[in-house]
Amino acid sequence: MQKINFKKELFKDDGHFGRYGGCFAPELLQPILKNVEKTFIKFKKSEKLKNEFDELLKSYAGRKTPVYHAKNFSRKVGGAQIWIKREDLLHGGAHKTNNVLGQAILAREMGSKKLICETGAGQHGIAVSMVGALFGFEVRVFMGAKDVERQKVNVERMKLLGAQVVEIKSGSRSLKDAINEAMRYWVSHSHDTYYVFGTAAGPHPFPELVSYFQKVIGEEAREQILEETGKLPKEVLACVGGGSNAIGIFQGFLDDESVKLIGVEPAGDGVRHGETIGKGKFGCLHGSLSKVNCDEFGQINESHSISAGLDYPGVSPIHAYLDEIGRVEYKGILDEEAVSAFIEFSRLEGIIPALESSHTLAQVKKQAKNYKKDDVLLVNLSGRGDKDLHTVFQEINTKNYE
Ligand SMILES: *Cc1c(COP(=O)(O)O)cnc(C)c1O
Repeated sequence: MQKINFKKELFKDDGHFGRYGGCFAPELLQPILKNVEKTFIKFKKSEKLKNEFDELLKSYAGRKTPVYHAKNFSRKVGGAQIWIKREDLLHGGAHKTNNVLGQAILAREMGSKKLICETGAGQHGIAVSMVGALFGFEVRVFMGAKDVERQKVNVERMKLLGAQVVEIKSGSRSLKDAINEAMRYWVSHSHDTYYVFGTAAGPHPFPELVSYFQKVIGEEAREQILEETGKLPKEVLACVGGGSNAIGIFQGFLDDESVKLIGVEPAGDGVRHGETIGKGKFGCLHGSLSKVNCDEFGQINESHSISAGLDYPGVSPIHAYLDEIGRVEYKGILDEEAVSAFIEFSRLEGIIPALESSHTLAQVKKQAKNYKKDDVLLVNLSGRGDKDLHTVFQEINTKNYE
């Protein structure tokens, strides 16, 4: 592996990560994206804006989130101590709140009056609707028709928070098409509208900007785990959909050579999957070069995962790069392994994890056995699982789980 000082070299404000990244957006969007970039750079230099962000993270979102030693789960699994970073306790129920608070500040600084966003399962749509209410933005959420149907309660939540949900009936009627439509809408409404991108993918500056707003997870976690255990973890694990919660926690540990970093992708039902790093090809989707889940002609495959948050055929160019240089290892977890971990962790710890995060828990079960009792493994619990009960009970009723 190349020796890199990540803190200095990963983010250079140019949007390139090795051969990945870039800004392959329509010409009309280029000046808008430049303006987002300019405002982001201003944010990073402004103590006032950074203080405002920190204050909102604290008093509105509930940071810091704790790290927790999952003793019952550790005992059952055997091997290392498993520690959990509790992003499930963040307001909104997932790490997404960090990102939307940061981008809401950028939108206001740019003079925007309206926010738009894409959403798959609805978690990002809800997060944007929350900050829309808080900051007084009009919110328009683009959502595939298939997802509107599958996620009725979340659509109601967005409406309650004052957002308008736009149902997309084109293409596969899911997340990928919602992003395309949101981009298209942005081109013609950029004078008063800001696009809150939901993960560390998309055209520059979104991968870097979303990573920046999520790095608080890793900064807190590193300090907390050192304080609680007196040492660094042997491994840090996180699930990867677009890659924002994972790059959030990884940023705390990238320069700690002894810490193994593991990203967990959805292996789906074994046939259809969402393993974009594991099985995807070099390509371009939604404005940047990365790994893409596509066929030999570059046509996007429909991804599949039991967890809607991981069901995305693209992935952050930052993860594609970290994979290529060997700094992070990416593994696949099957739907049924994730559901088993969901049930097991709920029963053992009294904490219902998101199905997305359950992929990470299923992976850590495999890793823990390779370590001794005083070794520490740290899992990013990206969100809480209340939203997934319906899906999980459907699974339990049709298959045999212990
Ligand atoms: C949205 C979501 C994810 C996946 O998004 P990333 O950008 O890969 O982090 C993971 N976990 C939860 C709980 C989510 O809501």
